[in-house]
Order: sequence, then C-alpha cells, then structure tokens
Amino acid sequence: MAKIIDGKKISAAVRDGVKAEVAKLKEQGIHTCLAVIIVGDDPASKIYVANKEKACEYTGIESRKYALPAETKMEELLALIDKLNNDKTVNGILCQLPLPKGLDEKRVIEAISPQKDVDAFCHENVGKIMTGEFDFLPCTPAGIMEMLEYEGIDPAGKNCVVIGRSNIVGKPMGMLLLHKNGTVTICHSRTRDLPEVTRRADILVSAVGKANFVTADMVGDGAVVIDVGMNRDENGKLCGDVLFSEVEKKASAITPVPGGVGPMTIAVLMKNTLTAARRQNNL
Ligand code: NAP
Repeated sequence: MAKIIDGKKISAAVRDGVKAEVAKLKEQGIHTCLAVIIVGDDPASKIYVANKEKACEYTGIESRKYALPAETKMEELLALIDKLNNDKTVNGILCQLPLPKGLDEKRVIEAISPQKDVDAFCHENVGKIMTGEFDFLPCTPAGIMEMLEYEGIDPAGKNCVVIGRSNIVGKPMGMLLLHKNGTVTICHSRTRDLPEVTRRADILVSAVGKANFVTADMVGDGAVVIDVGMNRDENGKLCGDVLFSEVEKKASAITPVPGGVGPMTIAVLMKNTLTAARRQNNL
C-alpha cells in the first residue's frame, strides 16, 4: 500500500510559514495585499476564489476582491488591471481563469505587471522558469515540488514522467523536475504507447483532466504518483486523474484528490504574494 502524501498537512506547514513572515513584515510597517479579479458567475471559479480568500485571511494577507459582471468589456478589465498595477498598496494580482467568452485571456495575462503576476503566467515569468532565475513559480508545479521535498523524494537521476503539456501545469512541471536533475519525459495526447512510457516512471505526474485515466497497468511498482487532475466522477464527486483504489496498491506514495495537490496550489499562491511584497519593498 502506498504512503498517502497529505497535501492538507504539508500546505498547512507552508501557510504557517507565510503567516509568520507576513506578521514580521507587518512589524516593519509593510502590509501584504493580493487583488483577486473574478469575471462572471462560473461556479467553480467562485469556489476557487473563496478558497484563496480564506487562505489570505489565515495568513494575514489582505485579499481585495473585484467581482465583475460577465458582460465586462476588455477595456474595462484592462483599465482595472492598469489601476492595480500602479497601486502601491497591492502586491499581487490574479485574474481567475477561465474568463467569459469574448475576453482575451492572453492579453489579460500579459497586462498584469510581471512583478505582481503571482500566478507566474506572463511571458516574462514563464521565460524565467526556463533559465531558473525566477521570482515566482506557477503555483501548482511549485506546490508539487514542495510536496516532494517535504516527503524526502529527490527527483535527481530519476525517471520523471509528466502527462499533460499545458502552459500552467505540464510544461513548467517538467522544467522544475529538470532543474532538480530529474530525467524528464512530457507526454500528451499524441504520445505513442503511453502506458509503456508511464510504467518507466519513478515519479509520475498526471495533469490530464480525465477521471480514472491512470490505471494500475500504467504505473510501475513503487512509483511516486502525483495526481493533479480535478474532475467530477459519474456521481458528481470530485476526483483526480488516477484510479486511486487500484494505483495505491502499486505505488510507493500517492496524492489523494481532494486533499493532495489542490491545497498546495493555494499555499504557493500565498508564498508568491509574500515574495512579491518583499521584492517590492527591496527585501
Ligand atoms: P489542459 O490544458 O486541458 O491540458 C491537458 C493535457 O492533457 C494536454 O496537454 C493534453 O494533450 C493531455 N491529454 C489529454 N488527453 C490525453 C491522452 N489521452 N493521453 C495523453 N495526454 C492527454 O489541462 P490543465 O490546465 O493542465 O489541467 C489538467 C488537470 O489538472 C485538470 O483536471 C485541471 O482541473 C487540473 N488542475 C488542478 C490544479 C490543482 O490545483 N489541483 C491546478 C491546475 C489544474 P494535448 O496537449 O496533446 O492536447
């Protein structure tokens, strides 16, 4: 039976660290603030934003929410971002994705100042991931690296296989594992004989977005399995990409869904906001 990697516990440790640092900044007269923009009424986005607000409250970071109607025009959204970019009391800005139809996500991402881009989605911050000279790392892959470190799992020299090549998860995940000296393979929908590739993984990260996608025959004995997926099963219950009941019998360690990668993502967002506040105050 695999060891269950407890994302709730590890993320609590990260959040407590942020909380202590935010309090120290406060003693120096520095207030930490995250601006969160949400456009429209997407129920999942509302839950994500509420969870981010909760984490801000816990860590002592001010969360300033801007809830805009779905009919918001691109110019209005860009004007708000411009205002927040120039507001010295705001350290981090995030715009919850996806945006309603008609709004250009790429333009929105690039409009956020790279110094306040706590999601690390803009070209400048993505480029820095390649060279390893980053201020912020994308929250989900960085959260996974924190989990591995906490569990004493060193990617160095290991076969690390990532399924999924999105800009926010798969590609940066591969890069971070590479920075830690993993031998990295990134798979996608055109990969030939996926099970043959994934079975060779010492560390397998799945970021596909399909329930029960990773079955036991795709996992080698003793592999570490990280499940990024956030899906709904046939009963509407939250589940990951990995067929947990089967795969936990084969893996050496595995993340559950919920309670795995998800809480880590939010904890790293808090960490990035703290980093932004420190940088903007030359600390
Ligand atoms: P995405 O942009 O839809 O990317 C999915 C990737 O999976 C694509 O690269 C796609 O390949 C690949 N894929 C699809 N079908 C495949 C197949 N049959 N074989 C191999 N690869 C296949 O998704 P994402 O934004 O990276 O998110 C992935 C999942 O993680 C979603 O469930 C999302 O909700 C979840 N997520 C969770 C967190 C968290 O905090 N826990 C954060 C972000 C995302 P192609 O490129 O070839 O199409």
